[in-house]
Amino acid sequence: MNKKITIAIDGFSSTGKSTIAKLIAKKYNFIYVDSGAMYRAITFFAKQNNFVGKDFLKKAELISELKNNSLSFQFNKQLGFAEMFLNGQNVEKEIRRLEVSQLVSKVAEISEVRRKLVKEQQEMGEKGGVVMDGRDIGTVVFPNADLKLFMTASADKRATRRYKELIDRGDKVSFKDVLFNVEERDRIDSTREDSPLTKAKDAIEIDNSDMGIQEQFERICTLVDRKLKEI
Ligand code: C5P
Repeated sequence: MNKKITIAIDGFSSTGKSTIAKLIAKKYNFIYVDSGAMYRAITFFAKQNNFVGKDFLKKAELISELKNNSLSFQFNKQLGFAEMFLNGQNVEKEIRRLEVSQLVSKVAEISEVRRKLVKEQQEMGEKGGVVMDGRDIGTVVFPNADLKLFMTASADKRATRRYKELIDRGDKVSFKDVLFNVEERDRIDSTREDSPLTKAKDAIEIDNSDMGIQEQFERICTLVDRKLKEI
């Protein structure tokens, strides 16, 4: 039988966590869960309903609406990955926009939001055979994960990657705004009270500033193979 382990990939914004997580999940036939997409979907909902904006956050209103929101991932065969659905609507494109990135960390600070999403994430990973990426996966969601990775890269490298991604998609953004957003999200994510972004004690740090995808992939596969032999 195919052995199943839980892999937690945390790290700073735009460190290529999801790219590598998707490749690993595909190779080992594990489920891939992009936990950031869930925070982004709730933020998109909050933005649509005017619960959050650049200078305001209607926390109580958002919290009272949380239970009415359902999130799901639906696999898109053509794209080869699961897209984020919010209340039955595909929001994959909308949640990747800079406007959502600029508000998401503010929404992700809310404990009630985290509680709801962490519970759903734990349920998705219940049976093992999961690769999940985010900010608190190895520390809060799966503290007993079999393999924990912590990805870092220089802010400039990360903003360059994100900028290219957005421009390639046809979004009109400036490099300055993308760089600011990457640094600002890291600041808020790392300093919030509830589940701040931090490297778990037993996580293996990978700085991919000067590493290509293939090199990272091979390195992580070696770690996964080693773990699979152990269990
Ligand atoms: O991974 P991604 O960059 O899409 O995440 C968007 C935001 O969602 C992060 O900047 C962070 O504020 C929040 N997030 C979080 N905990 C996670 C995943 C994402 O707080 N596990």
